[in-house]
Amino acid sequence: MKIDQILKENIVKNIQLMMDKNSDYVDVRYLSNDDSESIMLYNGNLESNDTTYESGVGVRILYKGTWGFAATSDLNSLDNCFEQAFSNAKTASTLVKAPLSMGKLPSHKSSYSSPIEKDPFEVPLKEKLDFLIKLDEQIKEEWILQRIVRADFQKKYSYFFNSEGTEVERKLYNVFASINIMALDNEGQMQSRTHDLFTTGKGGRGWEMLIDPELFSGNIDRIKSELSELIKAPSLEYAKKSVILLPSQAWLQVHETIGHPLELDRILGYELSYAGGSFVNLDSFGKLQYGSKKLNVSAFGGIENSPGSFGYDDEGSPERDYMLIKDGLLVNALTSRAMINEANQKAGREVFKESGGAARATAFYRAPIDRMTNVNIMPGNDGTLEDIISNTEDGIVVDFPNSWSIGSNREHFHFGCEIAWEVKNGKKTRILKNPTYQGHTVEFYNSLSAVGDESTWHVGQVENCGKGEPNQVMELGHGVPVVKFDNVITGERK
Ligand SMILES: [Zn+2]
Repeated sequence: MKIDQILKENIVKNIQLMMDKNSDYVDVRYLSNDDSESIMLYNGNLESNDTTYESGVGVRILYKGTWGFAATSDLNSLDNCFEQAFSNAKTASTLVKAPLSMGKLPSHKSSYSSPIEKDPFEVPLKEKLDFLIKLDEQIKEEWILQRIVRADFQKKYSYFFNSEGTEVERKLYNVFASINIMALDNEGQMQSRTHDLFTTGKGGRGWEMLIDPELFSGNIDRIKSELSELIKAPSLEYAKKSVILLPSQAWLQVHETIGHPLELDRILGYELSYAGGSFVNLDSFGKLQYGSKKLNVSAFGGIENSPGSFGYDDEGSPERDYMLIKDGLLVNALTSRAMINEANQKAGREVFKESGGAARATAFYRAPIDRMTNVNIMPGNDGTLEDIISNTEDGIVVDFPNSWSIGSNREHFHFGCEIAWEVKNGKKTRILKNPTYQGHTVEFYNSLSAVGDESTWHVGQVENCGKGEPNQVMELGHGVPVVKFDNVITGERK
């Protein structure tokens, strides 16, 4: 990948022109390719096959402490796009009381590529369809009423430039896929089992992920056999007990009740009118005991193979590996360069030292906002899933979300899952359907009593986290082990 030299010179020239007009800071993102392809089979029929191709430039200008943004897909109108962004910032600057700052950082010239063995966009559609149809045939049974097999592929080539002279080239790939099967239970309710393509954190992010049986097709027999038992199972009853989350459920728990409340822009109130606020405030850092001593949460962009690994964010900051929660204590947030300066200014002290590399934009025509990278619970010392079960007197193991409802400040939550296994006196007993559990975020994480070891840890891939106005859909990852919480309300009160 190589950016056209004339285009690059034009961008650099325009950045200088804007700086000559007394802008504080300018950055530009050019996406030469932002491509996606999605395929969905419904009961063996090709339900949809969509491809999108986007390319263009987004310009962000800070003038007198105020942002202006403009974007264009017409590279011939680049000069106008800069003028528009400047004019937007200038207009806004007359209305803003607290000017923002980006600070000053040294420039760097960097690049990043997702590790791939085979570019999924070079695999012919016929080969993709044949692969998915074969999976569907493996699933097909008379008693399974709905079968959904889907795969999505993404490719982004992006070039970043700023007024400090920083240049970053990136080549990003993602593959998402899932298998979902549904059948009627003995009470006429539809029950569901799903397997999402996951990653171990290691390996390629290309076509090779999808065809790795360990990550995908090898789970078909397991979910079929689980569904066949689920449709005969009794419902979970209301009670207080231990809840053991498998990684396919734990990632969403982390996403909704650690990831979102720790986005700095959300903490500062930027998401109030849409996604909501956060129970965390600028005084919580270094003080709030978010969870028990067993809770260690990192933001780690460096996981080799995850949709939350992208090398450099959309402000050109390198992804970092840092702790958000250390031994249960809240120590840091998901931050961008723009937001840390604003937060420190608001707090009147240095709460955040440097950008966490979490500024991300969904497309060239959106300005970056604070997003999750990979937000992970670090593996613990409580052994395997079997070890954790054997140390549980009365509990349930739950897997895969099918409904969730979260307090707008993320202070409490309620999850429904596809399946539960009852645990009595250290043994898995029977399968229970319609499992739900709920809690208050801080109380819940303080009841964390076991964290599985590395053998239980995997990276859940998130394809469609939504945030921002206008909405920005974003992909990210969560590395999570098996985790156990005590005294949790499970089931519904009759
Ligand atoms: Zn989300």
